[in-house]
Parts: sequence; structure tokens; C-alpha cells
Amino acid sequence: MKAHDGMYIDGAWRDADGRDAIDVVNPADEQVIGRVPAGTALDVDTAVRAARAALPGWAATPPAERAARLAALRDVLVARKDEIAGTVTAELGSPLKFSQAVHAGAPIAVAGSYAELAATYAFEEKVGNSVVHHEPIGVVGAITPWNYPLHQIVAKVAPALAAGCTVVLKPAEDTPLTAQLFAEAVHEAGVPAGVFNLVTGLGPVAGQALAEHPGVDLVSFTGSTAVGRRIGAAAGAAVKRVALELGGKSANVILPSADLAKAVNVGVANVMSNSGQTCSAWTRMLVHRDQYDEAVELAAEAAAKYGDRIGPLVNAKQQERVRGYIDKGVAEGARLVAGGPEAPRERGYYVSPTVFADVTEGMTIAQEEIFGPVLSILRYDDEDDALRIANGTVYGLAGAVWAGDEAEAVAFARRMDTGQVDINGGRFNPLAPFGGYKQSGVGRELGLHGLTEYLQTKSLQF
Ligand code: NAD
Repeated sequence: MKAHDGMYIDGAWRDADGRDAIDVVNPADEQVIGRVPAGTALDVDTAVRAARAALPGWAATPPAERAARLAALRDVLVARKDEIAGTVTAELGSPLKFSQAVHAGAPIAVAGSYAELAATYAFEEKVGNSVVHHEPIGVVGAITPWNYPLHQIVAKVAPALAAGCTVVLKPAEDTPLTAQLFAEAVHEAGVPAGVFNLVTGLGPVAGQALAEHPGVDLVSFTGSTAVGRRIGAAAGAAVKRVALELGGKSANVILPSADLAKAVNVGVANVMSNSGQTCSAWTRMLVHRDQYDEAVELAAEAAAKYGDRIGPLVNAKQQERVRGYIDKGVAEGARLVAGGPEAPRERGYYVSPTVFADVTEGMTIAQEEIFGPVLSILRYDDEDDALRIANGTVYGLAGAVWAGDEAEAVAFARRMDTGQVDINGGRFNPLAPFGGYKQSGVGRELGLHGLTEYLQTKSLQF
């Protein structure tokens, strides 16, 4: 896709306020593949004004018509699926097959789910002598990361539009081409001018201006804890709604009765997928001490098989950061059984699939989100010990439990402080609420729960 040199505001591509630009780099070969404008506070202000002007009309549009626009958007995404996959591969570096199945496939499913929800949701309900109206919150400022560039955009924009909100999106600086492609798709789908607006730019400039803009009623942010904390604090001070999705350190708990080989293999695949750049990845594998050595061996073998099938990390900074964590793991006494800190290729921001054994709870690699293809395997003594370790981080986004008996796995999962748990390898469900306990975030995305985040209630009494 050819990069636009403007911002998509009020239904058209408009000149940016400033002249600064952001180079888009292919992380697989370090070549510049495009250039997008770096938005200023003025660009953000223009976009927020457009979103505010479009709000009354869109909020008053019958839900069935909003649903029709979302269905049209899904159809455009389907028609442009290969282009989406190619664009994500070019700017994120993920293997093309994965881009097709996940980076293009998931947002199509999510857009479709909100076309359906917009058509069927009861925006009005009767409660005793009241009629409760579920009304849009208003103008949404959406700030998204690069790791699932289109999915994270659609997971915010589709429910916001379904609810009757209007949106200004500030996508990640590493993956703006996917965001521009999405803006084209919104336009093609016939969404009215001003309902969706795109400002590309740097986080501390355009992102911050959007998060702090008084014309924004709700800020929905996905990204690092450090930035999320600031956005939450600013939203609190302004008494405005905020949704935060901030990553995790999820536990993959393998109970003694589980099919060990399957649990380990699926667990390793889960961590290595998208080069480990997944906030819900099961980066801590918890294994009973009697099965520990066997699990470590299986995991090392599984990781070694990845070789060339794993893509690079998104940029040089992330590559350095992840290699720094691997060095730290070694320095703190964990045992490397696969991969390591050395860059496996001369070109591109690659990190080898890495597995650490003998990881203990207090180690940095057992506590902090690494965001790379790095798995830590921890030992537990009994179920209570496993639960204590699983719940022993500041995060609580996702997790997995494996057991011979489903009921046993469910009983364990119910005691975990986390927002999602996959039982014996349960599949991703685009309708299930996604979001964190503890410091993994505030609010939920996807499905019905994702829709209600963008609604507020008004009760009329009779
Ligand atoms: P980041 O939080 O800096 O960036 C996420 C988004 O926030 C981007 O659009 C960015 O431009 C914007 N942003 C940055 N500073 C901002 C500010 N002051 N005000 C408003 N918006 C701002 O994340 P990153 O630097 O790209 O990645 C760093 C780490 O964050 C990763 O290693 C990972 O641990 C975590 N992360 C988590 C997720 C997730 O899905 N939860 C996604 C990406 C990154």
C-alpha cells in the first residue's frame, strides 16, 4: 500500500499541520518502506472537532444503519484481506501466513461481531417504572500499539461506532500503514464524514494531545504500563472515562494429570507466536517438580524447531530490550536451554526463540513483561504452590490450565486472578470479554462487554 501524506479527518485526506514525518521500517530487512506525517496537537484538535461535530448525527443514526455500515466495513476488510496481510507483514515483520490468519482474520471476525451486536443489542430496556436508554459516551480517543495493529484498532473502533460514538485514532508509530489502510476501508464502507478520524504521529506528541484533549469523552488505550498509568492519571484528573489494556505475564499451569507433551508444545507455540509480542502470551510455564525435567526437555526441543519460522521483533529498540532481559535472566541464575541473547541474523531485528529453566518467582524474567520470544519455566510443589506462583505478579490478563480432567482444570482456573483462562488449549473467542485483573488494565474489549464500555445509561421514570 502507498502511504498517504495527510491525515484522514472529516471524511477526507487532509494536509498535516506540520512537516515532520515518521519513517516506516520493515523490521525483517531494516529498509524504509514508507513515510507518514507526524501529527501535531493542532491536527489532533482538528480531528477531535470533526468527531464532535459528527457525534449528534451518528448517535441519532438508527442502530440498524450503524450495523449496516459495520457490515460494509467487514466486507471491505474481507475484500482487502491480502493487502492487509501484506501491509502488516511489511511493517511488523510477522510471517505472511500468520498475518493472513490472525492479523487480517481476527479483525474481520471482530468487525462482523459488532455488525451483529449493533443490530441486536437492546439500546433501550424497561426496569420497573423506568425506561433505561443506553447512549453513546461521546467522542472516543483511541490509542493503539503495533503488536496486533489492525486487531487493536478494530477492537476499539468497531464497538465505539456500534455504540454511536465517534472516534479519533492515534495508531502506533511503527505500524501506521495498516491504520491508513483501515481509514480507507472505513471510507469505502460509507461511514459518514467525521465519524472516524485518523491522526498518525508520535506518542508523546499526538498521543498525549489526544489523551488530554478536553473534547474527548473516553480514552481507550492499549500499550505499556508506564504510558497507561499516565493516561489513567490524566483521565482521572479530568473525570473522564478511560479504558486501559496494559499487558501481562500470564501463567500456563500444567497440572500433573495433564497431557504433558501437548501442554508444553502448545505452550511454547503460544509464546513464540507473533515473536512473543502478545500481551496475553503464557510466558510463565508452571510444571510440577516431578515432571519438570521432562517438560524442560520438551520445551527446548519445541523452541529449537522454530528456527526460521519466527519473524523479527518490531524495531531495534524492542530487540535490544528483549536481549537485555535474556542477559538479565542469565545474570540472575536462570538456565538457558534454547536460544540466547545473540542476534541470530545480521539483518533484521530478530531474537532467537529462547527458553529458560530453573526460573524462580523473584527473578526479573518471572515478573516483568518481556514482549519477545522468551519462555520462563518454573517449578511448583503442589496445587496451592502453583496457584500462589500463578497469582504472584502485578498482572492478570490471561492464562492457561491443563489437566486430565476438565473439571479439575476449571476448579483451578476459578482461583486464578486473571481475566481469561484457556482450558486444555481452548481456542481464542472473539466474543469473550478480554481485559485484565490487577495492573493488566481497566475495562474489557470484544463482544457485548466491549460494546457496553462505550455506552452510558439514562433512566427515564414514568
Ligand atoms: P507504548 O505504550 O509507548 O505505545 C503504545 C501507544 O501509546 C502508541 O500508539 C504510542 O504512540 C502511544 N504513546 C506513547 N507515549 C504516549 C503518551 N505519552 N501519551 C499518549 N500516547 C502515548 O508502548 P511501546 O513503547 O510501543 O512498547 C513498550 C512496551 O509496552 C512493550 O515492550 C510491551 O511490554 C508493552 N506493550 C504492550 C502492549 C499490549 O498489547 N498490552 C502492546 C504494545 C506494547
